[in-house]
Amino acid sequence: MHRGRIEVPEYIACLLRRLDAQGYTGYLVGGCVRDALLGRCPQDYDIAVGAPPRELLRIFSGYHTVETGARYGTVTVMADGHPVEITSFRRDGTYTDGRHPRTVEYTDSLAEDLARRDFTINAMAYRPDAGLVDPFGGEADLRRGVLTCVGDPRTRFAEDGLRILRAMRFCAVLGFSADAALVSAANACSPLLGEISAERVFSELTKCICGSYVRQVLEVFATPLCTVIPELAPAVGFDQKNPHHIYTVYGHIAAAVAACPPVRVLRLTMLLHDIAKPYVMTEDEVGVRHFRGHQERGAQMAGEILARLTCDRKTAAQVCRLIRYHDLRPAVDRCSIHRYVLKVGGYETALLLTAVRRADLSAQAPAYHNQFSSIDAAESMILQLQREGAPADVRGLAVRGADLLAAGIPSGPQMGQTLAALLEAVADGKVENTREALLLRAGSLILEK
Ligand code: ATP
Ligand code: MG
Repeated sequence: MHRGRIEVPEYIACLLRRLDAQGYTGYLVGGCVRDALLGRCPQDYDIAVGAPPRELLRIFSGYHTVETGARYGTVTVMADGHPVEITSFRRDGTYTDGRHPRTVEYTDSLAEDLARRDFTINAMAYRPDAGLVDPFGGEADLRRGVLTCVGDPRTRFAEDGLRILRAMRFCAVLGFSADAALVSAANACSPLLGEISAERVFSELTKCICGSYVRQVLEVFATPLCTVIPELAPAVGFDQKNPHHIYTVYGHIAAAVAACPPVRVLRLTMLLHDIAKPYVMTEDEVGVRHFRGHQERGAQMAGEILARLTCDRKTAAQVCRLIRYHDLRPAVDRCSIHRYVLKVGGYETALLLTAVRRADLSAQAPAYHNQFSSIDAAESMILQLQREGAPADVRGLAVRGADLLAAGIPSGPQMGQTLAALLEAVADGKVENTREALLLRAGSLILEK
């Protein structure tokens, strides 16, 4: 961890000098101070200053400014092509809806502005001449890797329930452990998450599950997560009683999320892939549990959950497709893999499924880990077919519907059936994907009928 000085880009120093020249002392605040101290490159820089919003607009009138946040005392200034948020010091008024303070009051006190911030590691300020301003011990928490609220966690979560998800996100991204008081306050205040807009919940949730340290977070914060996704609650503590598994359904989910690459669509898939297991479980006469149909039912539940969370349709559809097919284990010969590509809907999905299968397997009993080689082989075969340009759907065939029409195949359902049959014949290696070969084959298909 860096101590003492923070590297300040010249375009930021320039904005601070401009404020100085007008008699205002501006500070870097929030995420950029935290990230710089951690040696991580800040994504963006925020400045806070004891000047009221109308003063900010005047001082930066020569800059291109975006006034979107003016009501809350924020002016976004374009500096050297970078958007920089410059915010008037504030103190929050009373919260009535668990989301927005009813009033926002401006103040000239940096200490008051820092006191309204969520976590100690986010409540530090810095300027080159003054050094670090750290009234709540944020630097010590950064060094210890502990996330602590500024003030009493129950009060702070009761003011704004989104802070619970932010806590989960910071732990998942930074690998911090949450302080015990924070965790019990998060559990107690979970119902407040119901007040938060689905868009904001989903945005925090996806950042959280894409964190490198997500497994711990899913275990520790199961209660708030199950408030956001109540369908997950039965998975918690659910014994699978099946030789493939060493974890509960929820434990398996947590391990599988962490085991897959930090790509949004994949992490969402793993989070929801086994969600239906408790809903479809049967137990046989020797006490082994089975989950027939959990893939289809899970895909359907995921569709409902993602729509409710305002996930974009394209991502949601892909997640559902990946869940539906997550348990397919194709044989690794060319024909089986080609058929598999057709079934799952193309190369992109087939390749994502190999990542899903690896994550799923690595969160299962080690006795089955010899199956990794079969996944590797399937992936190589998929990539080979893709390189060769093997058709993944009827559009990849060397004949069009119009060609078949000309060859005497009537339009309508029979056309679709013929194209599908040709595609399967190509996958099975029974016919080459050339115009002549396909037309010949189409002719014989008609004669067979
Ligand atoms: P990142 O930009 O990496 O997501 P960040 O900490 O900068 O992380 P922002 O959402 O940009 O997060 O918020 C900037 C700062 O504003 C935070 O560091 C924190 O001090 C404060 N803040 C943001 N949201 C809240 C909140 N809900 N409650 C209290 N303070 C908050
Ligand atoms: Mg930020």
